[in-house]
Amino acid sequence: MSDVIKLLPDHVANQIAAGEVIQRPASVVKELMENAIDAKASEIKLVIKDAGKTLIQVIDNGMGMSPTDARLSFERHATSKIRSAEDLLQIGTKGFRGEALASIAAVAHVEMNTKREGADLGVQLKIEGSQVISQDVAACPLGTSVAVKHLFFNIPARRKFLKSDKIEFRHIIDEFQRVALPHPNVHFRMYNNSGELFNLPPANLKQRIAHLFGSKNDEKWAPVQENTPLVKIIGFIGKPEYARKVRGEQFFFVNNRFIKSPYLHHAVVNAYEGLIKPEMHPGYFLYLEIDPASIDINIHPTKTEIKFDDEQTLYSLLRSAVKHSLGQFNIAPALDFEKPEGLDLPYSYKNREASLPAIEVDAHFNPFEEKPKAPPTVKFKNKVSKNWEDLYVGVPSKLSAERPFSTVEVESEEMGELFDDKKEEISTGMLHQFHKKYIITTIKSAILIIHQQRAHQRVLYEQFLQNITIKQALSQQLLFPIILTYTTNHIHLLKELQEWLTQVGFVIRIKKNTAEITGIPVGVTEQEISPILDQLLLDLQDNISGNGFSQTDFFAKSLCKSLAVKTGESLSAEAQEALVNNLFACKEPGISPFNEPVYTTITVEEVDKKL
Ligand code: ADP
Ligand code: MG
Repeated sequence: MSDVIKLLPDHVANQIAAGEVIQRPASVVKELMENAIDAKASEIKLVIKDAGKTLIQVIDNGMGMSPTDARLSFERHATSKIRSAEDLLQIGTKGFRGEALASIAAVAHVEMNTKREGADLGVQLKIEGSQVISQDVAACPLGTSVAVKHLFFNIPARRKFLKSDKIEFRHIIDEFQRVALPHPNVHFRMYNNSGELFNLPPANLKQRIAHLFGSKNDEKWAPVQENTPLVKIIGFIGKPEYARKVRGEQFFFVNNRFIKSPYLHHAVVNAYEGLIKPEMHPGYFLYLEIDPASIDINIHPTKTEIKFDDEQTLYSLLRSAVKHSLGQFNIAPALDFEKPEGLDLPYSYKNREASLPAIEVDAHFNPFEEKPKAPPTVKFKNKVSKNWEDLYVGVPSKLSAERPFSTVEVESEEMGELFDDKKEEISTGMLHQFHKKYIITTIKSAILIIHQQRAHQRVLYEQFLQNITIKQALSQQLLFPIILTYTTNHIHLLKELQEWLTQVGFVIRIKKNTAEITGIPVGVTEQEISPILDQLLLDLQDNISGNGFSQTDFFAKSLCKSLAVKTGESLSAEAQEALVNNLFACKEPGISPFNEPVYTTITVEEVDKKL
C-alpha cells in the first residue's frame, strides 16, 4: 500500500486556521484594528454594513506597505513583527502570528489598498478565498484600507452559524471598545450602515472611558494606581454603590491588550467583599503593565487568554490595589465589615413594605384565549366575599389605580376546578402569613397554602401581558427625571425594549449613553426602576446566549421577576388579601410564570392520617 499522508494545500490549511482565528465578523474587526494599531496609525476608521455580513472595512493612516509586503501579508506565517523564537518573549505588538490576513482572505473577499510613506502610488490587491484576483497600482492615501466582504462565502455552515445581526453587531461593538479603550491617543471612528456611531478624539484614559461610556458618571469611578516591580496597575474601579445586577463594564488590559481572566476578575471582586452583595457586579477598567517576558500570550489563537508566570502574586497585588483604592477614595466608612449587609446598597429590598403594583387590569381580556369569548363575570368590592355565590353577581368594572388593594374576583375555570361545584369559600378573613413565605388559609375540606412570591409573579405576569399586548398602562409623571447611564451595548438593548417599556408605563428617552426616565408605571417606586431595568438587561443577555425567545412573554416574565414580593417579606393583612384575590382572578392561578406550582392543599383526610 502506498503512503497516505499528504501535505494539505495552502488554501485548505488557511481555511482550517481561519476556523480558529476568525469565528465571526467581530473577529475580523479585532484583527484588522489591531493591525492598524501595530502600523502606528493615529486615525482608525471602522465601517460596518449589516453587522459585518455585507462589509467590514478598516481604514488607517499608519505606515502602509510596499507592493511586495502587501502581497506577502496574505501568506500564512508572514509577519513583520517577530523574526525568531526569542522575539516571542518581548512581544510589543498586537499581532505576531502572521495568520490573521491569511485566515481572513481564505474565507472572504478582501480588497486591500495600501501606500507607504514616500511612495507616489500605492497598490490595490483583491483576493477571494486565498486566490489573488488582481494586483494593480492605485492612487491611495498613506496608510492601509482593508475591506472584507462576503465573509464565510465558501463555508456555508459557518455563515449559517452566525447569530442575528443585532447580536453580531454587539460583538463588533465589544471588539471596537476593547481596542479603543487602551489606545486613547488614537482617533477612532466607527460607522454603521453609513451613520457615525462613535467618534473618539485623542484623549487621556479617563476621557476615553467617558467618551465610550458616558461622561456624567465621574463620581462613579475611583482611580487605581499601584506600582510594583512585578506589575504596574492603573485604571478605574466602580464605587460599590454603583455595582449593578447586570454585568456592565469590566475590562482587563495587559500591556494594552484586552484579556479575559476569571482568575483576576475574582481578585477584583474579592476586594469588594462585604461592600456589595454577591449577586452585584462592580465595574472596572484595569490596565496592567507587565514585563512581556513574564507572560505568555501565545496560548490561544485569539490571544485573549494569557498565562502569567506568577499568577498568585499578581492576584494579591491586584486585590490589594483595588482594596487600597476603595479605602482611599472615601469609600472608607463602607469598609466597616461589621455593618449589616445591605446597608451600603442604594436599593435595599430589606424591610421593604410589599407594594403591589396597581396597574390597570382589563378583566375582560384573556391573554390565553384565541377566540373572543363572553367576558368573565367580575365583581369588585373592598371587602372579601364570604359567599361564593356573590362572585356570580356580574358588575363589570375596572380596578382603579387609586385602590390597589381592592378585591377583584373573577369566575375562572381553575377556581371552578379547585372548589368543584361545591362553591366553597376561601376564608380570606383568616389569612395567615407563614415564615414570610406562604399565605395559609382554609377552604371547606382542606388547608390552602399559597407561595406568596410565585402567586404575585403570576398576578403581575398576567397584568403585564395584558398591558403589553392590549393597551398602554398608566404612567406616573416624575418630578425629576431619573437618568441612568449604560454601556453602548445595553443602550442598544434598551432601544430594542423601548416600545414595550412604553406599553407598560415607562416614559423613557434613550440618548447616547443614558436613559432619561420621566414617567414610570403606576405602583412602581423610583428606587425600583434601576433594578427593574438591570434585571431586564440581565435576562436579555442570558437569552442571547440561549435560544430565541418570545418577546412579550420574556418581557412580562422579567418584569414580574423584579417586582413580585419576595420570600422573606412580610405582608400586611390587606396585601395578603389582595394577593389571594388577585391570584384567583388569574387565568392560571395554579402555576407561576416560571412553571412552578403556586399553591398546594392539604386535605382533611391527609391531616386525619397524620393524627
Ligand atoms: P500579524 O499581525 O500577526 O503580523 P497579520 O496577518 O495580521 O499578522 O498581518 C501580516 C503582516 O501584514 C503584518 O505583520 C504587517 O507587516 C502587515 N500588515 C497587516 N496589516 C497592516 C496595516 N494595516 N498596515 C501596515 N501593515 C500591515
Ligand atoms: Mg495582525
